[in-house]
Amino acid sequence: MSHEVEAGDEFGERLKAYEGRSAAVARPGKDPVNAPMIRHWCEAMGDTNPAYEGPDAIAPPTMLQAWTMAGLSGHTGRAHAYEELLTLLDEAGFTSVVATDCEQEYLRPLRPGDEITFDSVIETVSEKKTTKLGTGYFVTTRMDVRVGADLAGTHRFRILKYAPLRQTDQSGRRPRKKPARPRPVVNRDNAGFWEGVQRHSLLIQRCTGCGTLRHPWLPGCNACGGLDWDTVEASGEGAVYSYVVMHHPPFPAFDPPYAVGLIELAEGVRMISNVVGVPYDKVRIGMPVRLEFQAHDDELVLPVSRAREEVA
Ligand code: ZN
Repeated sequence: MSHEVEAGDEFGERLKAYEGRSAAVARPGKDPVNAPMIRHWCEAMGDTNPAYEGPDAIAPPTMLQAWTMAGLSGHTGRAHAYEELLTLLDEAGFTSVVATDCEQEYLRPLRPGDEITFDSVIETVSEKKTTKLGTGYFVTTRMDVRVGADLAGTHRFRILKYAPLRQTDQSGRRPRKKPARPRPVVNRDNAGFWEGVQRHSLLIQRCTGCGTLRHPWLPGCNACGGLDWDTVEASGEGAVYSYVVMHHPPFPAFDPPYAVGLIELAEGVRMISNVVGVPYDKVRIGMPVRLEFQAHDDELVLPVSRAREEVA
């Protein structure tokens, strides 16, 4: 064991002491569960499930946290353990924060009129971890939401509190090298799509139950609910269905202005890609484009839409 690890452990132990400490006890929600908040939520989410309307309405289960939110005015009677822990991390140089994931469990539906209370506890503080963002600690809090004595649901929320990687070189200057283009988020639902792109093949998912094509990739069919699928390879022909020109905000890996198109492929599905081969201000709705694959660096291949020669 090196001294460095031991020093790290000492700080780690101070952080670990926060595990199990309470951040809120039987704190009441600001409003009872109510139909207007449910309606706004459903409209924002585009959720038209009839279970959330009418005299027997329940609240969407995923609204669980909404009933506990403090708003700008905050909750009264704050417990300070969580703020204390974050301050400790800030002072040790772990000044950045990113929300990494949340998990919810639902035990009882919430209905308009229910008055909730919630407890919040610091559940775990991880060992020191190094991630692509920097080195830091994952902090997980668990919130139990109750109606009376009944547990309605549990909301677990995890953040990474980290020291950002150095953005400057040793002379203190910003590095000149342009940052790499952000990677796509590849998960088990879309891995096949990105594997295809790597081989310069654009694969569209097809429901084997009803034959409906879909893009982007999803676990199930929106037309029939079927879970089985295969793929068809896109011919590469398409047209600009809609587009935007990005000016602001500028991201370091990109050179604005540039056109981002919603491309309708000949097969009928739509895909978002850059429109290339034509000045950004010459992109038009209906413009025919052809699929192309662009290698951005050793790892990253992306599909782009090149304006056909007759319009370029
Ligand atoms: Zn289907």
